[in-house]
Amino acid sequence: MCGIVGYVGNKNAIPLLLNGLKRLEYRGYDSAGLAIANQNSLNVLKRSGKVESLKSLVNDSHLKGTLGIAHTRWATHGKPNDVNSHPHIDKTGKIALVHNGIIENYLEIKQYLKAEGIEFKSETDSEVLVQLISLIYNNSKSLTFEDSIRAALGEIVGAYGIVVVSSDFPEKIITAKMGSPIVIGIGENEYFV
Ligand code: GLU
Repeated sequence: MCGIVGYVGNKNAIPLLLNGLKRLEYRGYDSAGLAIANQNSLNVLKRSGKVESLKSLVNDSHLKGTLGIAHTRWATHGKPNDVNSHPHIDKTGKIALVHNGIIENYLEIKQYLKAEGIEFKSETDSEVLVQLISLIYNNSKSLTFEDSIRAALGEIVGAYGIVVVSSDFPEKIITAKMGSPIVIGIGENEYFV
């Protein structure tokens, strides 16, 4: 069972995300990662192993930001390695997603996306979803980012708790769930997932 943490507000997101992951460690996991979105930049740091090991990667990076998502993975599709760790990013490098659960029809969607010229980095079912969101969003002239996520989720069979961010919208974290639990916390000018 994986763990998901998201934060948007005016505090430094990094310690909040890492502490959140620490508190979810009891659930068991094999890898950990986080993404920080700023205007026009999306940075992802992830690796197999413990949150402590992610923490040293993050400390070395001097990454900063007030919006981010983080994940501890329990591998179901693809080995527990650095590349398969979450967050996963889309082909434009602007959208990042963390996912808890299993996308049962991921192979079918992956074939379709490959035929559209999308190259996959990981072996996960989760990367399929972020690439699908991106394709829908970038091909549509009328759908908002939120609409595109809704449309992509409409194609998914399975269970999910997801959080999605984009460097085009560095004030938004978008979450959705089906079958998996997600809790939203509302603070003063800040939100937690
Ligand atoms: N199915 C996804 C994967 O293998 C998510 C697993 C999880 O819930 O941590 O990466």
